[in-house]
Amino acid sequence: RINHDFASLSGNVNLSFEFFPPNSNEMNSILWNSIKKLEPLQPDFVSVTYGAGASTRERTHGVIEKILTETSLNAVPHLTCIDATESEIETIAHRYWELGVRHIVALRGDKPDERSHTGDFNYATDLIYKLKSLYDFDISVAAYPEVHPEALNAQADLDNLKRKVDAGANRAITQFFFNSESFLRFRDKCAQNSIDVDLVPGILPVTNFIQLLKFARFTQVEIPGWMQKLYQGLDQDLITRQLIASHIAIEQVKLLSKEGIKNFHFYTLNRADLTYAICHSLGRRECFAAAS
Ligand code: FAD
Repeated sequence: RINHDFASLSGNVNLSFEFFPPNSNEMNSILWNSIKKLEPLQPDFVSVTYGAGASTRERTHGVIEKILTETSLNAVPHLTCIDATESEIETIAHRYWELGVRHIVALRGDKPDERSHTGDFNYATDLIYKLKSLYDFDISVAAYPEVHPEALNAQADLDNLKRKVDAGANRAITQFFFNSESFLRFRDKCAQNSIDVDLVPGILPVTNFIQLLKFARFTQVEIPGWMQKLYQGLDQDLITRQLIASHIAIEQVKLLSKEGIKNFHFYTLNRADLTYAICHSLGRRECFAAAS
């Protein structure tokens, strides 16, 4: 008898969805259609990234405010500190707290270029201490199963994650990855290093493989050979790429779920369809009670 092994996927998982602030009217309606489509899946939270430049940053705030006022969702802003002054961070923290935000993804951010930065913070750890000194925010941080590109080595990167947890981080959301074994090995190493917060895999459904190759070089994420083969010859064929993307991501969440992972963070890129399908395959239904 064939065991389709989807039976164990009961929908009893914690989901979070990541969006980025739109920069045009068209992108704005794509974002809001996606939020509306994903809202009934009752994620634990939805997060909104924070970019370089004042106007992008203001848009993050705007999207967070709109999510809080117009949906039932828990809106979580990302916040970077690399080129911020202490007083800027204080102003943002006060503003968010007053708005009802209670959870922040605290990040260093990428260094703008080779020049040294001009802000008051060097690392995400400094930002966590600052935020925690102001309010009792729930804090998520970034983690890198395949090691952050600037880290001296894997152990130094683990030491950094431990510092972030000791500073008050409640969970770590990972960089996307496709080699699930590297995530599982990383989970083991976190346990060995007494990093005892939830490690939430960041799931990226890939429809634009060419763009991924560029991004992977920059982030030093491994693109396995089997993945290259799956996307071969599909540069002009979006529909097939989407089907392949959902297949890969469904296999990935199924494997991680079998390994005991209960929290999943989706890099939606503001598109709902693939994320919705993957959550459905995990057993998640719009009416959560009917899923088990
Ligand atoms: P840190 O934890 O501060 O680490 C940065 C590097 O410094 C690491 O290599 C670390 O090992 C090293 N390090 C730390 N402390 C020390 C020390 N004392 N001495 C020497 N080395 C040290 N970027 C954005 O701009 N906006 C976003 O919204 C955003 N969202 C993200 C969400 C997730 C889930 C992830 C995984 C990444 C996100 N990023 C975002 C990217 C992130 O800003 C970059 O990866 C950035 O380069 C590192 O940020 P961090 O918070 O991990 O930094």
